[in-house]
Amino acid sequence: MKIHNFSAGPSILPKQVIRKSAQSVISFNQSGLSLLEISHRSKDFIEIMEKTTELVKRTMNLNDDYSILFLQGGATLQFTMVPSNLMNREAAYLDTGIWANNAIKEAEKFGKVRILFSGKKKNYTYISKNYKVPNEVDYFHCTSNNTIVGTQMKIFPNTPIPMVCDMSSDIFSRKLNFCQFSLIYASAQKNVSSAGMTIVIVKKEILGKIKKRNIPSYLDYMIHIKNNRIFNTPNVFSIYTSMLTLEWIKNKGGLSILEKENEYKAQLLYDEIDKSNLFENKIHKENRSNMNVTFFLKKKNLENKFNKMWKKENIVGLDGHRYLGGYRASIYNALSLDSVRFLIHIMKEFEKKFS
Ligand SMILES: *Cc1c(COP(=O)(O)O)cnc(C)c1O
Repeated sequence: MKIHNFSAGPSILPKQVIRKSAQSVISFNQSGLSLLEISHRSKDFIEIMEKTTELVKRTMNLNDDYSILFLQGGATLQFTMVPSNLMNREAAYLDTGIWANNAIKEAEKFGKVRILFSGKKKNYTYISKNYKVPNEVDYFHCTSNNTIVGTQMKIFPNTPIPMVCDMSSDIFSRKLNFCQFSLIYASAQKNVSSAGMTIVIVKKEILGKIKKRNIPSYLDYMIHIKNNRIFNTPNVFSIYTSMLTLEWIKNKGGLSILEKENEYKAQLLYDEIDKSNLFENKIHKENRSNMNVTFFLKKKNLENKFNKMWKKENIVGLDGHRYLGGYRASIYNALSLDSVRFLIHIMKEFEKKFS
């Protein structure tokens, strides 16, 4: 029986990507050696690095002003690396969710943080457009998709200040003008690959401007760039799997095709929730995420019945985040339209029975 995987992260990947990466663990390129047993400095692995880098650049339409790094420590380490490399005095942040808030807490250890907007009082259900990025800060930080509550930034400010974005849960899900960002980071386990690797895309010209601190080597983007992006042993398996996912994206026709599919899947699901007497979504319509669709039962006493129903139908990962409760359908690139339709079908069945 087919399993419908709505997990938030680690999460669903294309079947063919899983198959091919599994094969490479047994025997990489028919060499008789596992991908896990070859040197990260071997010709075979260097080729994987180069190809993955090219695919990232081509998919996002980036030029050689940018360097692509594959680091460890998750998006969480980027909460520290960003201020450690970019903050001399003060930075501006948007507080749009729990991850954004974690990023702010780390940045505050390095200098002054100006919060331009906080959605906290409204439980992060909306993102204001009415803020202005000040001209005197070192950088501006935002989170493109708030995985836990289910909001997404649809527009980004126009500013001469370097814009840094945590795209962990919507990278490669839509077409954006990626050149407007000076630094993008995304942990791989939501929409790209296995956990343990973070893609960092950094415009080289913003680096090397820190006056007052000695950046620890691993935390210094410049050290990674100077060491041909293999300063230490990278997550070989996750980089290879990213390459496969990027090839899958390319074969599908790139980000504009995926964006349309993702919008369509999300719209179907939001429409069903809006029509329903039993379910509700609490997010401001303009800010609804196309990746993480959160919803709640209006009557809490029906939760056990609904849980029993979807679990019996081989739907997995639909539970809301532990902070929020309710439900969250993560509908990343690899989650099929069929799975979305199946979830809607189950929700309709539930309505028929319990409305
Ligand atoms: C998952 C997530 C993170 C944390 O990623 P780790 O790899 O666990 O450190 C940070 N930001 C966003 C937006 C996320 O979705």
